Amino acid sequence: MTTASGSLVIQVVTETSTEAMRRAYLAADPRADLVELRCDAVRDLDLDRLLSAGGKPKLITVRSRQQGGASRPSERGPILRRAIEAGAEYVDLEFGSEDMPMLERPCRSRVILSHHDLKSTPADLQEIRKRMELVGRGALLKIVTFADAPTDNLRIRDLLHGGDPGSLIAFCMGPKGIPSRILAPFWGSAGVFAPARGAPASAPGQIPLEELFDQYRFESIGPDTRILGVLGSPVGHSLSPAMHNAALAARGLDYRYLPFEASSIAEFLPLLSDLPLFGLSVTLPHKETIVPYLDEIDTIARAVGAVNTVVKSWNRMKGFNTDAEASVAPLKRTVSLRGAKVTLLGAGGAARALLHGLTEAGAKVTIFNRTASRARSLATRFGARSRPWESLEGHECDVLINATSVGLAPQSKRSPVPDDWVTASCVYDIIYNPPETLLLRRARARGVRILDGVDMFVEQGAAQFRLFTGEDPPLETMREAVLASLGAGGTAPGRGDAARRRSATA
Ligand code: NDP
Repeated sequence: MTTASGSLVIQVVTETSTEAMRRAYLAADPRADLVELRCDAVRDLDLDRLLSAGGKPKLITVRSRQQGGASRPSERGPILRRAIEAGAEYVDLEFGSEDMPMLERPCRSRVILSHHDLKSTPADLQEIRKRMELVGRGALLKIVTFADAPTDNLRIRDLLHGGDPGSLIAFCMGPKGIPSRILAPFWGSAGVFAPARGAPASAPGQIPLEELFDQYRFESIGPDTRILGVLGSPVGHSLSPAMHNAALAARGLDYRYLPFEASSIAEFLPLLSDLPLFGLSVTLPHKETIVPYLDEIDTIARAVGAVNTVVKSWNRMKGFNTDAEASVAPLKRTVSLRGAKVTLLGAGGAARALLHGLTEAGAKVTIFNRTASRARSLATRFGARSRPWESLEGHECDVLINATSVGLAPQSKRSPVPDDWVTASCVYDIIYNPPETLLLRRARARGVRILDGVDMFVEQGAAQFRLFTGEDPPLETMREAVLASLGAGGTAPGRGDAARRRSATA
């Protein structure tokens, strides 16, 4: 399915055996226009067997080690020559390599002349393009670079805008380059590369093809599309894109919600003015550091001292905190908080948001934290009490809340407290991955009422959705999207990340 902008959808297949590659080729997503067979990854390569499989057009790539693949120079030539001879529809030749003489010969295959920079997005992108055009003889050019900073996405956009439409495939690799993988087709990239969900990735930051279509609806991004996103570091594990994009699609809104990885607010700022960005979710480590950059912050965010939502309107940026209300909402529906004795474990950002909501609701909160000084300063700020962690054993309370990160995947076999220390009749763990932590599982087994972190996550997102779009959030859709991502290993931490880090190119 070529996109509205005419980009070819290229499904990348990176398998280590001929038979596995053939099977993956034959099972290609119907929406792919062609399938790239990364022959350098195949240990027992039988090219003729691969080429004989009938189906979508094939792109034969034998990526060299210098360009992030697995092939030595001597291995590449014979495979590429055979692919051309046998009539492969597309072949990938590497710019500036020993492949160049192949460009001189008449050839029925369409050539993609590629250049990968695995370390950075160099300053002379336009020069590289011109040099490639000079020798390319009508080949489709491909320039893929590693994004050091979010602004590299904009430089790739400018490169795409600077040449003939349809003549160049360009995007960035790496976590900071993910926005370009989604937006490049709209910016005029002649192609987009994506593996199937669950298949080995061939480059850092690759987005599965199903996600590009179903989650990001990338093929229909147009000039009126409004951009939203989550700003943090890391954001690769965030469930917010799955949740918000599902909600936006359900409401038929022409917004897309992207992951924006940035090490600092300063390095992200140019995107705020240079993309049609209308709102951001803000996550660790930027919830406090973003405050000085805002024109205004609402009273709850000011009281909590952290911003998790930014809305941009008429070039003014206003900060909100939707965690505070969302964190106590599930509790309020379950127990009466006025006068309730609440034990709060943790003194980080989430504990701070909870404290605001709990004290507003009239609960009597005692904070326990590994680092006692953090608990003390939080208690002073919100008029709560703090006690040393050791005195938690036998501490009587009505509600126990875990706002530490103990029990969070992948360390889900841990609980912040021994089971026999828990005296509460209601246990609330704000961790949402896994939805049922060890703390909750044990509490449930003892007949204690339990609350998980999924509701809080969905509610803070729902409040953001209202702020971003002014529309009612489809709560059930959002919850289903979060649970599906967690259950399927979808966008949950670790999904495919190791494979992505291991492999290197495009
Ligand atoms: P922070 O990094 O700000 O705080 C982490 C807290 O966990 C600190 O109190 C820290 O104690 C404590 N902690 C970490 N490791 C240990 C340990 N080994 N033993 C005891 N205490 C420990 O993170 P956040 O406050 O933002 O997040 C906390 C948790 O809440 C996370 O698991 C996160 O997933 C979850 N969360 C859920 C949300 C939802 O919507 N459901 C929203 C936001 C967060 P110390 O001060 O000693 O370092």
